[in-house]
Amino acid sequence: LIALEQVQKVFFTDEVETHALMNISLKINKGEYVSISGPSGCGKSTLLSLLGLLDTSSGGEYRLAGHDVSNISKKERASIRNKEIGFIFQSFNLISDLDVEENVELPLTYRKDLSKEQRRQMVKEALAKVDMSHRAKHFPAQLSGGQQQRVAVARAIAGNPSIILADEPTGNLDSKNAEAVMQLLDKLHAQGATICMVTHDPRSAKQARRNVELLDGQIIADHSTDNGTAAA
Ligand code: ATP
Ligand code: MG
Repeated sequence: LIALEQVQKVFFTDEVETHALMNISLKINKGEYVSISGPSGCGKSTLLSLLGLLDTSSGGEYRLAGHDVSNISKKERASIRNKEIGFIFQSFNLISDLDVEENVELPLTYRKDLSKEQRRQMVKEALAKVDMSHRAKHFPAQLSGGQQQRVAVARAIAGNPSIILADEPTGNLDSKNAEAVMQLLDKLHAQGATICMVTHDPRSAKQARRNVELLDGQIIADHSTDNGTAAA
């Protein structure tokens, strides 16, 4: 599903060059549950934004679902992103003046292949999957952190993306809510979702089926965890 070949990312700020990613080669197959870990600043979020087509690499090749997306325009990136990628962030990133339903629907409104009726149906199904149907008309400020993150998960999965990318999805949650979100990701994985999750938390990393470890912009380990199916 995903194939990175010798991908690099260099940031230039005030004459300073930061080599955030160096020669990253990584394949993720459909249905895998991968965690990415490593110390602060090692390039985890940078890698996730490249995978999610939020940013472009400085070199190397990226193939997503068989298409070379290394050198496509910003507009093409946005259109592929809206269809193929679901994001979950540490800080939920819900829009405060949209209600739950509208937040989940928002990414779908950029898709020209969906009718209003289809969008509504997809929102309904996504909210049911995260057990938040009863809060459809609430606004983010009226929800607990755990509930907000479940809504963010609904937003990520509503468009049936090829892959879910999560950056520290439990970072702002207490242990009980973190546990609930991890269980939700596990359930989605069991239903066939492909997930790539950045995490500091060894317990969350263990829940994934494969762990990729980064250090200073390079992959230093890539192994399956002792948690069920082995990584391909
Ligand atoms: P954390 O665990 O703290 O979130 P991380 O592994 O996600 O860290 P990144 O955010 O990927 O780390 O950053 C990797 C390196 O790239 C860091 O040295 C960072 O300062 C640098 N960097 C990231 N984004 C930018 C940017 N937009 N401009 C300049 N440098 C950047
Ligand atoms: Mg980060």
